Amino acid sequence: MDLATPLTYVKGIGPPRAAVLESKGLRTVEDLLTYAPFRYEDRTNLKPVAQLAPGETATVIAEVRTARLAAFERKRLGLFEATFRDGSGETLLAKWFHAEYLAHVLEPGLKVALFGKVEFDPYSGRLVMLHPEYEILSAADEAEAGLHTGRIVAIYEAAGKITTRVFRTLIHRVLETLKPVPDPLPETVRRRLGLVERWAAIRELHFPAPGTDLRALNAFRTPAQFRMIFEELFWLECGLALKRRKARLREGIAFELNDRVREKIKQMLPFKPTAAQKRVLAEIARDMAAPHPMNRLLQGDVGSGKTLVAAEAAIIAIENGYQVVVLAPTEILAGQHQYYFKQLFARLGYVVALLVGSMSAREKRQAKRLLAEGKIQMVVGTHALLEEDVAFHRLGLVIIDEQHRFGVMQRLRLMEKAAAPDVLVMTATPIPRTLALTLYGDLDTSILDELPPGRKPVKTYHVTEDRIEQVYSFLAREIEKGRQAYVVYPVIEESETRALKAAEQMYRHLSEVVFPGVKIGLLHGRLGAEEKEAVMTAFKQGEIRILVSTTVVEVGVDVPNATVMVIEQAERFGLAQLHQLRGRVGRGAEQSYCILVTGKLNEAAQERIRTLVESTDGFKIAEADLRLRGPGEFFGTRQSGLPAFRLANIIRDQEILELARSEAEAFVEQPPSPEELRRAVAYIREHWQRRYGLVQVG
Ligand code: ADP
Ligand code: MG
Repeated sequence: MDLATPLTYVKGIGPPRAAVLESKGLRTVEDLLTYAPFRYEDRTNLKPVAQLAPGETATVIAEVRTARLAAFERKRLGLFEATFRDGSGETLLAKWFHAEYLAHVLEPGLKVALFGKVEFDPYSGRLVMLHPEYEILSAADEAEAGLHTGRIVAIYEAAGKITTRVFRTLIHRVLETLKPVPDPLPETVRRRLGLVERWAAIRELHFPAPGTDLRALNAFRTPAQFRMIFEELFWLECGLALKRRKARLREGIAFELNDRVREKIKQMLPFKPTAAQKRVLAEIARDMAAPHPMNRLLQGDVGSGKTLVAAEAAIIAIENGYQVVVLAPTEILAGQHQYYFKQLFARLGYVVALLVGSMSAREKRQAKRLLAEGKIQMVVGTHALLEEDVAFHRLGLVIIDEQHRFGVMQRLRLMEKAAAPDVLVMTATPIPRTLALTLYGDLDTSILDELPPGRKPVKTYHVTEDRIEQVYSFLAREIEKGRQAYVVYPVIEESETRALKAAEQMYRHLSEVVFPGVKIGLLHGRLGAEEKEAVMTAFKQGEIRILVSTTVVEVGVDVPNATVMVIEQAERFGLAQLHQLRGRVGRGAEQSYCILVTGKLNEAAQERIRTLVESTDGFKIAEADLRLRGPGEFFGTRQSGLPAFRLANIIRDQEILELARSEAEAFVEQPPSPEELRRAVAYIREHWQRRYGLVQVG
């Protein structure tokens, strides 16, 4: 048996268990050994029954005296009761609910260890443990005695019928059978950081030595845990560093940045770029001029003017005779972008086309033909752009407005449509640094950390539903002043219908009861592209004064005259999403407002809403969101594209991630020897490439 041995070869793992483990991503012995506990429990408090006191948690070693399935009046509760006695002569009662099977396990005469919380049982007047962990000490398998009690034990997340107990037993069995494994971490790194050797670390992870600090264990900061977490993040960051290095060596387009290009950019600019925009454009232009493909992530808070920077980059490509593609996450946003770019480029004479799924077959065919013939300089679209039959005459720059919805694979699909185009990924809201380092770690990063001048921070208020009338009168005053407003309803995954119903209801209520004289629009995901466009245009032109909408206005919408954003059921949104929505206002010179309407809130929801009321800094909000909701939820979708970590937790382990990042970078740039680097590359290929979606390293 070695690390690569499939788990089916482990004693005690038959096909049914193997299938369950497989569904957890555990296929090999190594997978099992790196299946991390999520917490630890100190079960070393060994006490005679006579000394037990109610309220304490203890381990007891005693003999089963009586055992029975309690006959209850109510039917088949499956309550199993047993009494235990030890040398102290006292008896302890234990009860397990839904545990009929125990009647065949805990038979009188057996010597067992029990671990649990002691309580006083008013029915019997005796001390009782409810659902204690148990371990049969007279079991045939001596080697496995003392795994679950009388020590610090690791607690695992159960998988199907595979309980934490079974995990402990299986892992122990594997550790007993396996010969010590070699340590693949580069020796230099291990030495410098004083890392525990791998084999020892694995053993400690699952069976901490007596005396290990429980607090450190539960904080996942014992030397052994640190080493295992570091290892996981180190290989990821090595893979990413290798990818960046490889991309830098690949041949790409060297765009020329001459006076004509500069002149065109000047012609296009509708306003003076901010210092941050200038700096970021310089970074992008440097990448584009280099004879290698650009892979750059452009981050910036809502309203920081990312689109303008993208337009400048596009001009560089187009003036060099190349085409530009802009991939957007939704049709509405694609439409918005196309409109915005078309206006910016009007004076330059570029053709900016749209390609989205809801266009007619004829329109699509036409767009595709012109694109292939090179008669279109920029195409903006959605997933429709990824289809096989979309071909470019000469694609030079790929811009992805990401909103966390496109994965690495989509990025690749677009890149395959050209030799080696430059790629600029824009995110709609700031991403916490840890996520940027993992999810976008193969990209170089530019940050727009400055808003255009003259912006007043949006004032944010929290209002409970029962005070909605006040919100209406506030809305009315703003409308009277000539401003416009959004009223947004949340769409949670799979509930578009409900959100739509609420939005429609509000639309009717507002237009018939509250604002009979005011033109109100309704926008939602079920409208066709043309209908959406019509509503958006009417709103943009100020014809529609209040836009009631499901979250389709989330990204990209740009109507400077809108000064109020009312978000209904705000507690249902993620912070990043709320911040993004709030970014729809505050785009002009007038003071803008964001009103978060919620029901009664619990503590956690209260904290989230407070974060938003108190801060307008997107980076801070993103960090808070990640902390409060976790990485999966952060993106609001399941397919966050985040690597499936075994041990690492990017919220808890930020410093280890930073350390792994710098160690990996140093290792890849200056490996101790070419041989060591080769070994590392081979190791990553074999172990991590697929799991981390690294596609190709080294
Ligand atoms: P983002 O996509 O980063 O959220 P946008 O690109 O939509 O931001 O820009 C937000 C608004 O700011 C737009 O109305 C845009 O025209 C405007 N804007 C961008 N750059 C500047 C600038 N340098 N000066 C003034 N307004 C700007
Ligand atoms: Mg934008």
